[in-house]
Amino acid sequence: MRLKDQVALITGAASGIGKESALLFAAEGAAVVAVDVNEAGAAAVAGEITAAGGRASAVKADVSKAADCEAMVAAAERIYGKLTVLFNNAGISHADDDDAITTTEAVWDLTFQINVKGVFLGCKYGIPALRRAGGGSIVNTASFVAILGAATPQLAYTASKGAVLSMTRELAVIHAREGIRVNALCPGPLATELLMKYLNTDEKKQRRLVHVPMGRFGQAREIAQAALYLASAESSFVTGAEFLVDGGITAAYVTPA
Ligand code: NAD
Repeated sequence: MRLKDQVALITGAASGIGKESALLFAAEGAAVVAVDVNEAGAAAVAGEITAAGGRASAVKADVSKAADCEAMVAAAERIYGKLTVLFNNAGISHADDDDAITTTEAVWDLTFQINVKGVFLGCKYGIPALRRAGGGSIVNTASFVAILGAATPQLAYTASKGAVLSMTRELAVIHAREGIRVNALCPGPLATELLMKYLNTDEKKQRRLVHVPMGRFGQAREIAQAALYLASAESSFVTGAEFLVDGGITAAYVTPA
């Protein structure tokens, strides 16, 4: 059991990476607080974990709201006595996110409220709880687009994930001496709802796949495995890192035919 005696709060736990991580972390012994704005989805994931004999609770929270973030952390401590793993994973990719000329201020602001402020608020309330527990691990979900410029524009999303990376580095440095590690996970393109909604035609999917050396989209489970490593003591000397799990997309200049 790689997360025995750990209490893990995962945001965006109703779907995709968050859901697979909740199931995996629980199977590895963690008590899981499954947080999502989608209350029914989070409850279904927590129900699946408890039905399999694990420990999990669902909490409804919008990560862009301070009171919700304070309450989700309080719920973890109230129900399980502590918080040791904080996985700031919730994020959106807005359908109208485009280039600088086309993207509206409303889409920009919403993307930053959830993808950037959501991570900040998770840390604002989560870090004091990790301190009370004597230390812990924070994992922030960024993206490969924080590293590479994409010709299919999503300017607000890309900039928001860049902010997650720089925030992660500074948090890692500031909290290193108190036993709190902070790392960013940079998934490549995945076959989850978030991306498939955006790449909604075969042509758009193929256009993206041309750049992936492995020639396929990743699975949410493959990102959950990487999150498990960062959450667990196996990564005890890893902090401030950007962990790319991307099928080779950022390594490629030209991909094999
Ligand atoms: P998903 O859409 O399957 O799941 C995201 C979850 O976050 C949903 O359950 C949604 O309800 C929840 N959520 C959205 N806004 C929220 C809010 N304000 N408060 C609380 N919960 C909220 O997406 P996914 O692919 O699992 O993405 C998870 C993370 O991974 C995101 O940060 C995303 O940007 C990142 N990511 C995804 C990909 C990809 O290709 N899918 C690639 C790189 C990074």
